[in-house]
Amino acid sequence: MKSVKILESGSDRIAARFDGYELPYLSAVRRLALSEVPILSIDDVIILENTSPVYDEILAHRLGLVPLVTPEGRYPLSQECECHSASGCPKCRVMVVLDAGTTEETRTVYSGEMMAPEDKDVKPVSDKIPIVKLAPNQRVKVEAYARMGRGREHAKWQAATVAVLTDVADKEDAYSLALETAGSYSSSTLLRRSIMALEKQIEEISKGLSEQ
Ligand SMILES: [Zn+2]
Repeated sequence: MKSVKILESGSDRIAARFDGYELPYLSAVRRLALSEVPILSIDDVIILENTSPVYDEILAHRLGLVPLVTPEGRYPLSQECECHSASGCPKCRVMVVLDAGTTEETRTVYSGEMMAPEDKDVKPVSDKIPIVKLAPNQRVKVEAYARMGRGREHAKWQAATVAVLTDVADKEDAYSLALETAGSYSSSTLLRRSIMALEKQIEEISKGLSEQ
């Protein structure tokens, strides 16, 4: 008999036991969690001002690696958006601004200063990620755009940081799948989205066939 049981469900980790399911399906869900579940990440960065010692390219790279809370189902992949534009449109991308003004003292700019004025639900997963260190009178002002992407394009779009499938020792056809998230989705959303990614792959095959 088939059954699914959640063994553990925390904010960043979920584990589920699957009884009676064949290994290839679960193995596909595990791989899709790493490569096919889209999340938001900063992809385009316009540097308006940067008098910090860090090069523009390094600053842009660091912003891209800050995990962002991704509202489920709100933004499509730009390839699948009606705009059909690689750079995206307001429906498939979110503006994120960082304006770290000057002070009298040396200070570190943290991810908590990044803001998405048009969508308050989009924000860094943590406020405590250091971005750049500023000396007195140095300033960083950036306008960036986050869009949905998948882990197979770049690790910054990897929804799951860990995905492990193991045998359950006492039984045949019983497996345990554990997923960990960097926080773009809750762990339970990540599991659901990974299973939806498998459904989507199958739908695409059947769509391809029906177009023959
Ligand atoms: Zn668009």
